[in-house]
Amino acid sequence: MNQLTTTAQAVQAMSAARPPEGARAPSGGSAAHAVASVAVILSPWQQYICHACGYIYNEADGDPDSGLAAGTRFADIPEDWACPLCGVTKSDFEIYEPPSLDALRAKAQGCRPVPSAGQRHQPGVVIVGAGRAGWQLAENLRAMEAELPITLVTVCAGDVYDKPLLSVAMARQLTREKLVRESGVDAARRLNLRLLPHTHAISICAQTKQLRTTRGTLRYDQLVLAHGAQAALPAPLPASLCWRINHLGAYLQLRAALGTVDQSGAKDVLIVGAGLIGSELANDLALGGHCITLLDVQSEPLARWQAEQAGQQVLQAWKDLPIRFVGGVKVAKVEKMGQRIRISTDCGQQFEVDQVIAATGLQTPSRLAQSAGLAWQNGIAVDPLTLRTSSPAIHAMGDCITINGQASRFIEPIARQAKTIAAAITACTPVPYEVRPAMVRVKTSSRPLTLH
Ligand code: FE
Repeated sequence: MNQLTTTAQAVQAMSAARPPEGARAPSGGSAAHAVASVAVILSPWQQYICHACGYIYNEADGDPDSGLAAGTRFADIPEDWACPLCGVTKSDFEIYEPPSLDALRAKAQGCRPVPSAGQRHQPGVVIVGAGRAGWQLAENLRAMEAELPITLVTVCAGDVYDKPLLSVAMARQLTREKLVRESGVDAARRLNLRLLPHTHAISICAQTKQLRTTRGTLRYDQLVLAHGAQAALPAPLPASLCWRINHLGAYLQLRAALGTVDQSGAKDVLIVGAGLIGSELANDLALGGHCITLLDVQSEPLARWQAEQAGQQVLQAWKDLPIRFVGGVKVAKVEKMGQRIRISTDCGQQFEVDQVIAATGLQTPSRLAQSAGLAWQNGIAVDPLTLRTSSPAIHAMGDCITINGQASRFIEPIARQAKTIAAAITACTPVPYEVRPAMVRVKTSSRPLTLH
């Protein structure tokens, strides 16, 4: 028994599972620790949530990319371990259990006067978008107002998942079941809200406080736009030939099209755009065994973080992976050639591949905001402190907003934005929003980088 120096090792010994290659032993190792650890395995696996980005560390799964084998207890993780999604350290995590409705109701502060019987049929809050932003806001609202009517409108099924994990999901062999943390239906039940899945928001009438959708018109007291941004597609890239990966549905379709290398062989994939998403996808699909060509107009990947030499670092990390980076080129033409796709650049280079992915940045769809006449500045313009749009009963958050003309499409601000808007809507003590410099974790798992 004294060989079982850590929980992870104990678990591995018990299950005879082979530890992932390169896994480092967690801290600890004394005999006393071994006894404590073995005692600990008798308790169920716990989950821990990152305060900054919402990533959930599950002890059962570990974090193989940073060397934590499945079965590594949180207590055994070294203090300098970084959140795989956002880069903060272990001290920014706390134990996580999805709060039950009863727990949220017990927590509810009820800052607004309880509505009288006649007022109870209030339309309440309508949220457009069920990504991390929409769900975080719903959870914050429910924790503040037990009976507030909340309606969540989304074009997809509304399933709860961590979008940043899509960039590492192939190498980790994460299936849909592993990626979806809670189904939309279950989350809606838990939070006692009305979920309208597969529903498009069409237009807003700010005067009458109505949102027109493909499933009828909804009245609202407060509307929150959290519908995110779309992958931008520059003119030479036709939508019919290019994947755009900005949500779970599209990602799973791409995975199905690529198949696994074991079953259908390695595919040639060309990715246009070597920013964060393009570089992370290149890394992940290459680890999955596919052959990647990565194009960018800049001379190196992650050119935005040139000062931190990010490009040089990832190129170094990729030297043993099937990734070919071609910098300083612009795509001129994309055309179907039988089963394959041919990409021609301005300078006359040609590539023939099985799949093309456009990772050429994001843009906020403007139609909904324009229908309400909302101030627009490269995105939905919001007040930096309150996140209110130019219309008094409409807030906006997440990837669709800009503050002083700047979009900040990172995961970390979303939890803080949700707190600010929930406090404003429930008339609790205001929680002013604070614009902070973004910290970015590049999930190129062969060499994860934390950039500022
Ligand atoms: Fe995090």
